[in-house]
Amino acid sequence: MAEPLPFPAHEVLIDGRWRDSASGERLPLLNPSDGSVLAEIARGDAADIDAAVAAAQGALDGDWGRLNAAERGRLLMAMGRAVLTQVDQLAHLEALDVGKPLKQGRADAVALARYLEFYGGAADKVMGETIPYLNGYTALTWREPHGVTGHIVPWNYPMQIIGRSVGAALAMGNACVLKPAEEACLTALALGRIAQQCGLPAGALNIVPGLGEEAGAALTAHAGVKHLSFTGSVATGRRVQAAAAQNTVPVTLELGGKSPQLVFADADLDAALPYLVNAGIQNAGQTCSAGSRILVERARFDEVVERLAHRYRTLRVGPALADLDLGPLISKRQHGIVSRYLDLARESGLPIAAQGAIAADAPPGGFYVQPTLVAGVPAAHALAQEEIFGPVTVVIAFGDEADAVRIANGTPYGLVAGVWTRDGSRALRLARALKCGQVFVNNYGAGGGVELPFGGVGASGHGREKGFEALYGFSALKTVAILHG
Ligand code: NDP
Repeated sequence: MAEPLPFPAHEVLIDGRWRDSASGERLPLLNPSDGSVLAEIARGDAADIDAAVAAAQGALDGDWGRLNAAERGRLLMAMGRAVLTQVDQLAHLEALDVGKPLKQGRADAVALARYLEFYGGAADKVMGETIPYLNGYTALTWREPHGVTGHIVPWNYPMQIIGRSVGAALAMGNACVLKPAEEACLTALALGRIAQQCGLPAGALNIVPGLGEEAGAALTAHAGVKHLSFTGSVATGRRVQAAAAQNTVPVTLELGGKSPQLVFADADLDAALPYLVNAGIQNAGQTCSAGSRILVERARFDEVVERLAHRYRTLRVGPALADLDLGPLISKRQHGIVSRYLDLARESGLPIAAQGAIAADAPPGGFYVQPTLVAGVPAAHALAQEEIFGPVTVVIAFGDEADAVRIANGTPYGLVAGVWTRDGSRALRLARALKCGQVFVNNYGAGGGVELPFGGVGASGHGREKGFEALYGFSALKTVAILHG
């Protein structure tokens, strides 16, 4: 028997009111730790999206649109403070819903609070310019909200992704329609309640759970939506961009990656190892910026593999509430995807250097896989090229710096990279040479860095979230030229 949730999970939030979806249809929400039905959520569809977009536009034309930047910021900061008082409750919800070990859920809740604080504090600090222009003119710029913004969020980091996307959009004065993933929407719904308690005007944040091909597609196609923010798969991202093109609206796409970590022979391995391991297994590897390709200079390849393998053998997987190193994967489908990659590794004769263990008492209905280290993978192999989105890390040998760069840049993706070296000049050369949106030198921040602009190149998407940069994405620049003689 599932434990009772702190609020009804089957409702949508539209115009400040919680209610059933227009159709009254619901979807089951599963607990990945044991496969049981945790709750029912609303199966929102185009009718709910219509109502949510109208409510958001109403908020812009009404109470929300009348607030000045400092007032918007104060509301966001109040939401951030409220989130901080509920870190444990939010982590518990995320454990049930996403299968995240509690410590990771707590980290996500604190990150959500940080996004709300950061964007709350930044709301009234976005300045325009005055531009030297022709004699007799004053020319200046300011930033305006797009209007109604659509936010399509995946299941892997609901709190963090909502924080970075909705937080920045609200700070700039947009009104949001949020479509969380059908597999994970409890913390989105909890944030809707927190926003109401903090006095966010009705309609500024609307939440419509439902299926991607129904509620999600309706949101991307809606002519009233003036900006789309999407995090998820490349295939769906392309559909979102195509829909945005029909309405000529800007779109921010964050589509994951196959991020390399380059380990040179002069690296401080003691410092690097915890990062190398964690970047592959955090959130059971279901992380867009997972450092899932470890590239090691040949001179130290065997040593690095052995030390990584030693750590992998100690890793434990189990139910989220047991708070082990890894929880389950999100779904049976994701379990199938990751298992197929492991089968492929075996069929290709790739050396499985080490695996962690699934706890003996893990419920058989849960979606567990062993964290796996695959060593000596050819750079062109599917395991080294494709985003697995599970706790499978490949280790690839390289010869020299040029070889390392060639392999690192040799996938369609370009989200994040890590460089481990004591040579400062090399670190800077590589930071320039690597084709991606973020480079970490002697550290690695899978998913971290509220303050750090984040986003990819190539198949990893475009546009930037996080940091101050996101505020520019969630606003349009207006130039004003005044002839005053
Ligand atoms: P999707 O990209 O399909 O889902 C991400 C979000 O998009 C969800 O909210 C989903 O809703 C929504 N969506 C799905 N179809 C549409 C559509 N036609 N129009 C608008 N929105 C839509 O990812 P999946 O959950 O299917 O995962 C598949 C793979 O994607 C993973 O194995 C992983 O490789 C990658 N992925 C990458 C992520 C990242 O952080 N970059 C995050 C999640 C997945 P719904 O959940 O209801 O389908």
